[in-house]
Amino acid sequence: MLKTHNCGELRIGDAGTPVTLAGWVNRRRDQGGLIFIDLRDRWGITQVVVDLEAAPAAHAIADSARNEFVLQVQGAVRIRPEGTANPDLATGDIDIVADEIRILNRSRTPPFYINRDEGALDEALRMRYRYLDLRREAMQRSLLLRHKTVKFIRDFLDAEDFVEIETPILFKTTPEGARDFLVPSRLQPGSFYALPQSPQQLKQLLMVGGFERYFQIARCFRDEDLRGDRQPEFTQLDLEMSFVEREDVMQLMEALATAIVKTITPEKQLLAQPFPRLSYQDALEQYGTDRPDIRFDLRAIDISDIGGRSAFPVFVENVKAGKKVKCMRVPGAAGSVSGTQLRKITRELEALVRRRAGAKGLAYITIPVDPADQLRGPIGKFFNVDLKLELIEAMGAEGGDLLLFMSDDAPIVQASTDALRAHFKSQLDLDDNCLAFCWVIDFPEFIWDEEHRRWDPSQHMFTMPLPEDLHLLDSDPGAARGSQYDLVCNGYEVGGGSIRIHDRAIQEKIFPLIGQTMEHAMQEFGHMLEAFEYGAPPHGGMAWGIDRLVMLLAGAPNIREVIAFPKTQGGADIMANAPSPAEPQQLSELFIELDLPPEELEH
Ligand code: ASP
Repeated sequence: MLKTHNCGELRIGDAGTPVTLAGWVNRRRDQGGLIFIDLRDRWGITQVVVDLEAAPAAHAIADSARNEFVLQVQGAVRIRPEGTANPDLATGDIDIVADEIRILNRSRTPPFYINRDEGALDEALRMRYRYLDLRREAMQRSLLLRHKTVKFIRDFLDAEDFVEIETPILFKTTPEGARDFLVPSRLQPGSFYALPQSPQQLKQLLMVGGFERYFQIARCFRDEDLRGDRQPEFTQLDLEMSFVEREDVMQLMEALATAIVKTITPEKQLLAQPFPRLSYQDALEQYGTDRPDIRFDLRAIDISDIGGRSAFPVFVENVKAGKKVKCMRVPGAAGSVSGTQLRKITRELEALVRRRAGAKGLAYITIPVDPADQLRGPIGKFFNVDLKLELIEAMGAEGGDLLLFMSDDAPIVQASTDALRAHFKSQLDLDDNCLAFCWVIDFPEFIWDEEHRRWDPSQHMFTMPLPEDLHLLDSDPGAARGSQYDLVCNGYEVGGGSIRIHDRAIQEKIFPLIGQTMEHAMQEFGHMLEAFEYGAPPHGGMAWGIDRLVMLLAGAPNIREVIAFPKTQGGADIMANAPSPAEPQQLSELFIELDLPPEELEH
């Protein structure tokens, strides 16, 4: 080894020990006869002192060294002179008095500071020089956290008798609702592999293969438009279990989530335990989304009964037409604001739901701080005294609260609820150290796709309907609920899974419903149907987005912060310049001719 110790481990007790350290120049301070170098490696920073008189050769080298040069330093550990200890540094009580320094490599001036956390670094520059970005403490911390999380998961599942098994990357379509990445086959011209959108089919086949408990830290590929928490390739903890029911999987997964947080990030607070369970329907009704952030309790409450008895014509008519009236209570929002401010706030909220949800308007009233006062707000007058009291009670409202009302078609009310919650969330400055997990269950098995006039699987085509809803596949598929469960944390879907179909006859019923001919289904999924005929055990499982999980544990703003070499929003690696054109020779070996639209040819 070119070093005897690392830069984070030496303490007062090591005083007098001769050591060799190696690492990067984090900072250099020249005080004439003395040069101080903060030497950095993965484990920390140690101060090196180079004295012109005692070690003139080393001093000359230290003099020529610059930030990010790679040095090897030989010297002895010394307790720092009185008053010069640095309490911010783990090694701050000692320094190394250098006898000899070797430059192992030089560095150009980096395009951004590595030794300072500047917050708003240009992301394109960070990606272009990712290997330098990775040297920054924040990135070192996140990737270490990722490593620890994955290692913990492996150990936990190993102790639970799971077997880690790799499944192929070159495979066949494994639909999870995205486009496939295709890879042309040279040996079978004109044929293509699809990269797995998930190992879904393969893990089910492993259950048919008798493994009973499988997991994998699996790379998945989905060709879709990127958003903050999506990447074209991402990592899942993928697992599957045989002879289980929904409850078994959920309980084990909840134990895993709890153990990860308690062990890996003990400073984080788990808000609700056991994790609350919401039906898909309730999640949409109350939070306007199937991945609610339950760290804050703003919810849309159904007050159709009260609204229908008010004198407000919109509510009365809507309730008659079978639409709901929903109310969201914003505690204290009207307490200390003037009438003018309140009108401004509510006008902005109304503009928000018009823009984001296509709502026609947003009615409101405020609850007076003094109970003797009237309800304020344009629709206050439509509620008589008794109804007001009923409303206040139904909403648990208190003086100073703002009550917002929504009444329209369900999707508009849901989108309004979601938009309002997102708006208030941004004002609340929520604590990232709180992790609020919840389960969303009882998803519909299918969601209607109006454009293609067919049902789409709400999870994927292998999800078993709930046993009590199985009969609905024939009579009313839209009403059938699936056995799906999603694990949500702070508004992010951390994972999802389900109990699977293991019966060929049930699986065969799904294909026509989702618009696939039996001929096409046999071609793409015939192997699954066949496998189900050879004693496939009942099974179910789940997959977690490792990137998202680690992002939440790290309190990072997006998943790129916890991936070593992520793609940009445009799906590119701008460091290595990928994707890039293929050589004509490569294309011809694959019998591929390009037929690009004119605008692409100009590039
Ligand atoms: N394959 C699913 C997914 O990738 C997860 C699962 O059902 O286990 O979302």
